[in-house]
Amino acid sequence: MSDRPDPGAVLDRLTAELGAASVRPGADASPDLFVDETLKAKPVAPAVVVTPSSTAEVAAVVRLAAELGVPVTARGAGTGLSGACIPEPDGILVSFERMAALLELDEANQVAVVQPGLTLAELDAATAAVGLVYPVFPGTLAASLGGNVATNAGGMRAVKYGVTRNQVLGLEAVLGTGEVVHTGGRFVKSTSGYDLTQLIVGSEGTLALVTEATLRLHPRLAHTASILTPFASVDEVAEVVPRIVASGVQPMILEYIDRATMTGLLRMNELTLGVPDDVMAATEAHLIVVLEGRDAGRLEVDVADVATQLAEAGAHDVYVLPSGQGADLLAARESAFWMVKAAGADDVIDMVVPRSRIPEYLRGAQLLARTHGSKVFGCGHAGDGNIHFSVYEPDTARRSRLLSAIFAMGHDMGGAVSGEHGLGRTKKGYYGRLVEPASLALQRRIKAAFDPAGILNPGCIFPDD
Ligand SMILES: Cc1cc2nc3c(=O)[nH]c(=O)nc-3n(C[C@H](O)[C@H](O)[C@H](O)COP(=O)(O)OP(=O)(O)OC[C@H]3O[C@@H](n4cnc5c(N)ncnc54)[C@H](O)[C@@H]3O)c2cc1C
Repeated sequence: MSDRPDPGAVLDRLTAELGAASVRPGADASPDLFVDETLKAKPVAPAVVVTPSSTAEVAAVVRLAAELGVPVTARGAGTGLSGACIPEPDGILVSFERMAALLELDEANQVAVVQPGLTLAELDAATAAVGLVYPVFPGTLAASLGGNVATNAGGMRAVKYGVTRNQVLGLEAVLGTGEVVHTGGRFVKSTSGYDLTQLIVGSEGTLALVTEATLRLHPRLAHTASILTPFASVDEVAEVVPRIVASGVQPMILEYIDRATMTGLLRMNELTLGVPDDVMAATEAHLIVVLEGRDAGRLEVDVADVATQLAEAGAHDVYVLPSGQGADLLAARESAFWMVKAAGADDVIDMVVPRSRIPEYLRGAQLLARTHGSKVFGCGHAGDGNIHFSVYEPDTARRSRLLSAIFAMGHDMGGAVSGEHGLGRTKKGYYGRLVEPASLALQRRIKAAFDPAGILNPGCIFPDD
């Protein structure tokens, strides 16, 4: 794609196709559109920004881009953490802000049909009104459903409900040729050809642009209870997590927070949880368990059961929080990213390892950080083996060496580079060094089948040659 047409010519062709109201030069748009929440990421202005209002318009944009050989990057809400929606300097940015409708809430089939620009907050409000829930809750409900699908977003409730790919039943999507495909449907099972839905989920805008998604909903359970448990060591936390998961109580949330992160979160959110200072000082890791149920009595039994498991596992104490305090603690946990950003963290990584290897992974990462003269702090989705480290190492080369070492260690434990944020532009190099060559080659062939001109979000997922 070296002989790209003049950006003015691309603008003119797109304007002729979509009309001036949906097309503007990148230079006229806000730089906020050109970056996501990735720490230290810089905005990149594309040649053109388009805001299509229909699938037909998206298809027209992609057809033209394929003809001209111009890169196309989709943008949802820009809350991503891997630079995946940052456009190419001479490319087209497709912003889905005008395709943001909830098309249908089908209560009989427990399904929502949405356009990609709809936010999680909007879907949550609509499903709450009918007693249902879309159970993917990443740390920000400002994220769009299109972005969720493209990143296979996870979040705190994945330990019970699974991640985005477990909720996506069908898609309408525009391939890199401009063709429109429909995958799946309002059913939970199908053995009818390759599962194209699942190929597109998590593909970070590199295979197709999602223009509609059919999503699975669940009953919204009325009662929740939050338990906070300080432990002297991460080994104790790691031991009790699989036991709770195996006990059948189906926790909705199982989050790990290290002492430094918890201290910062409590301070930043002006929260007191009644944990005495001497217990805090003797704590290496906190575990938050949230249970939900449709019946208050049944929930109480489950809370007592989990509390016993936690006490038997050696917890300093078990705090069953009043509901307001539980909600405040979860809100504080969700603010972890903003805290580490304000504290000047240089990167956030979200490697996933088998649950049983968490202590080894945590200790290994601390050791590697020390040997590199850097600092890492952690919290994350312990129930999924998905720990988020904030990395404090301003020297780019040293940080890259540290991250390479952490990823290689986690990979040797049977882990994967990203559990939920995606590879995007920031983690693709690390992935490229660890992935099996045959797997990477197959993925390149799949990419070529969906996107023969190679225009969809180039620069993401695949390592530079
Ligand atoms: C405070 C905070 C906490 C977070 N916590 C979590 C968490 O717990 N778990 C988690 O998984 N993530 C988390 N995230 C990351 C982020 O919220 C998710 O990755 C989210 O899914 C991104 O959605 P978005 O709409 O912002 O997508 P964007 O950032 O706009 O884009 C992300 C990717 O999706 C592609 N894309 C967007 N729309 C489409 C479309 N219609 N078709 C094809 N591709 C498209 C983009 O090209 C890009 O590759 C967090 C982010 C923040 C800021």
